[in-house]
Amino acid sequence: TSSRRHLSTAQSLPPTYEKLFNKYTDVRRVLGKQRLTLAEKILYSHLDNVEESLLTDTDNGRSIRGKANLRLKPDRVNMQDASAQMALLQFMSCNLERPAIPASIHCDHLIVGSKGAADDLEAGIQTNKEVFDFLESAARKYGMDFWPPGAGIIHQTVLENYALPGLMMLGTDSHSPNAGGLSTVTIGVGGADAVEALVGAPWELTAPKIIGVELTGKLGDWVAPKDVILRLAGELSVRGGTGSIIEYFGSGVDTLSCTGMATCCNMGAEVGATTSIFPYTDASARYLASTGRTQATRNIDALQNFPGAGADRDAYFRFQADEGAQYDHVIQIDLSKLEPRINGPFTPDFATPLSKFKDVAREKQWPEALSAGLIGSCTNSSYEDMTRVESLLKQAADAGLKPASDFYVTPGSEQIRATLERDGTLETIESAGGILLSNACGPCIGQWKRQDGVTKGTKNAILTSYNRNFAGRNDGNPETMNFLASPEVVTAMAFAGSTTFNPMTDTLKTPDGRDFKFAPPRGLEGPQTPFEAGEPSLGVLSQEPDPSAQIAISPTSDRLAFLEPFPAFPDSELSGLRVLVKVTGKCTTDTISAAGPWLKYKGHLPNISTNTLNTAINAETGEVNAAYDLDGTKHTIPELAQRWKERGQEWLVVAEHNYGEGSAREHAALQPRYLGARVILVKSFARIHQTNLKKQGVVPLTFANEADYDRIAAGDIVATVGLYDMLRNGGQGDVHVKVTKEATGEEFLIPTNHAISKDQAGFILAGSALNLLSKGL
Ligand code: SF4
Repeated sequence: TSSRRHLSTAQSLPPTYEKLFNKYTDVRRVLGKQRLTLAEKILYSHLDNVEESLLTDTDNGRSIRGKANLRLKPDRVNMQDASAQMALLQFMSCNLERPAIPASIHCDHLIVGSKGAADDLEAGIQTNKEVFDFLESAARKYGMDFWPPGAGIIHQTVLENYALPGLMMLGTDSHSPNAGGLSTVTIGVGGADAVEALVGAPWELTAPKIIGVELTGKLGDWVAPKDVILRLAGELSVRGGTGSIIEYFGSGVDTLSCTGMATCCNMGAEVGATTSIFPYTDASARYLASTGRTQATRNIDALQNFPGAGADRDAYFRFQADEGAQYDHVIQIDLSKLEPRINGPFTPDFATPLSKFKDVAREKQWPEALSAGLIGSCTNSSYEDMTRVESLLKQAADAGLKPASDFYVTPGSEQIRATLERDGTLETIESAGGILLSNACGPCIGQWKRQDGVTKGTKNAILTSYNRNFAGRNDGNPETMNFLASPEVVTAMAFAGSTTFNPMTDTLKTPDGRDFKFAPPRGLEGPQTPFEAGEPSLGVLSQEPDPSAQIAISPTSDRLAFLEPFPAFPDSELSGLRVLVKVTGKCTTDTISAAGPWLKYKGHLPNISTNTLNTAINAETGEVNAAYDLDGTKHTIPELAQRWKERGQEWLVVAEHNYGEGSAREHAALQPRYLGARVILVKSFARIHQTNLKKQGVVPLTFANEADYDRIAAGDIVATVGLYDMLRNGGQGDVHVKVTKEATGEEFLIPTNHAISKDQAGFILAGSALNLLSKGL
């Protein structure tokens, strides 16, 4: 039977801690008293086979970081609506009655932000009805939790309802690590990875390195948790966290709110970290209580007092790292000395201290006028964020000021929205002229229909409290410069309407000519009484599987299509491939599979494939989205790929560093595969995307010598040497590519590296991970 209810107020905890306790006892049996970080303890307590993973090829488990292949059994999977479509289409082809672990679906990415919450939500539901119907029908059939449109953004809903210290979750979204703010290891993955976990297969991860971030001191006026991660992004760069978990520790941790810790973890994705995590603190317990999970705090207390937890109460049971745990690298941040930052434009790691921003903006000729300030998103929509903003809005209202820029506010969930409404914060926002958008991603993911007349191609600056600022990400306009800051800084600067205003030092003129200076923002960590559940129709639909439920896909749909399995790898080396395009510069998952208007085709592989690499820069001509057929005719990149697919011409892409940076978007792997890509050859890969390619049967190779990038060109004929043997040997062996220049007949070998494990070799040979998994079920 189905019923709508709010989990946060109605559900008691699953009995997972006993299982974790037993697993952790196994880990300790193998590793003895070796000191571990919190992330390691949680990960290892989710190993499919503790002995095998911790002892194989390692020095008795002492040096497994960066080496051992962990086979993990996560506790649950969370999916957002855009990526859930393909994940569910893949899960359906396995013919199971129910997932092996609990799962949830969150309708958040498809709602366009434009006029305001009520209108936008209604329009979004109408426009996307067939997708939401499909997702709900699949949720009913397989017994997954379904959060309808308007319920909230996945990471906020997960933090409020499912995150729990010590758990391990997968999320089909790159900002899933948000839940690390509540001591949960949560990793962003593609849909194919999620399907593996849903069918009960172990999920593989190379044991991550651990970057320790030691926090001391206490945040000062105007400084927010967001500034911790903005500063870290500046230090680590968009690649600095690759292959690592960022683990926070130190006395400064105890001064942060749970949602503030989640903000830091959320944006760990911007430095490429596998995930981020904070230890359990009093603030975590307070957050559990205010979100209706007092039982969870009791369970944690019970775990700490469990017989066998040891007289010294092993730090695991307090969800802390061991004293003296080893980190691969430690970064120290004194919160007392931290200054607010503004990061951007176009990359989240260009960090400028607020005090210097005015000069840098003038020097770089960034627009002085601020066209809009946007706060909220999964990164910064907490009660604390909003009440700190409220304190600024009240000051400004008392001085007779209104924001000089458009000012948009997105609550992260219905629970947040309803609580802010109850406590009067929404009224303050709306009477200041703030436009309340629906509880959804909206402008954060290109779903922003601007009403201010700023058209595509117009250079303009916006300031947001979001997490990501790639070109075109918010409004589809590559000339919109998105600068990232804390909600407080965004709000104050929206009142000035200027990118050169520093609220810590500068004044504004009130209508009656007085000078007005903002006092530092003040807010509440959480509501003084527990959160409101909100509108009942926006609660979760939670039910047992109903095998009789029909999956809603119309055969004439242009948005949803059943999946055809990809063909298996040939019984030979790959030969006769051609380089479709050689790409230069950043090539993110947004570049490979754009979001915004394309999100609506996420469940229809042929249709969404017409956007493949459509913002990539051709290294040989400098053009965007241009590729040349062998007869010299010019096409867009997806057009040429489609032409080659029709001719049976398989291909590869050549690109530079951190290929596939950004999100967990598996379409960035599925689309090239569908169009005939066999190999992606680059200087380096982003982790999630590299894994996604392997799952879809595309071979990711990196240049052993980066200079070889210059020797290979579009149209070159490519054959692999050693690839087939390597795959048959379970990932062991060297792979070269043989390049032939058609015009001259010149041939040469390029050495490459790969990171293909035994299981992944099996995926590639079978044609895709799913082909292999469905064979074994
Ligand atoms: Fe949604 Fe933006 Fe958060 Fe992604 S980063 S989940 S698009 S709000």
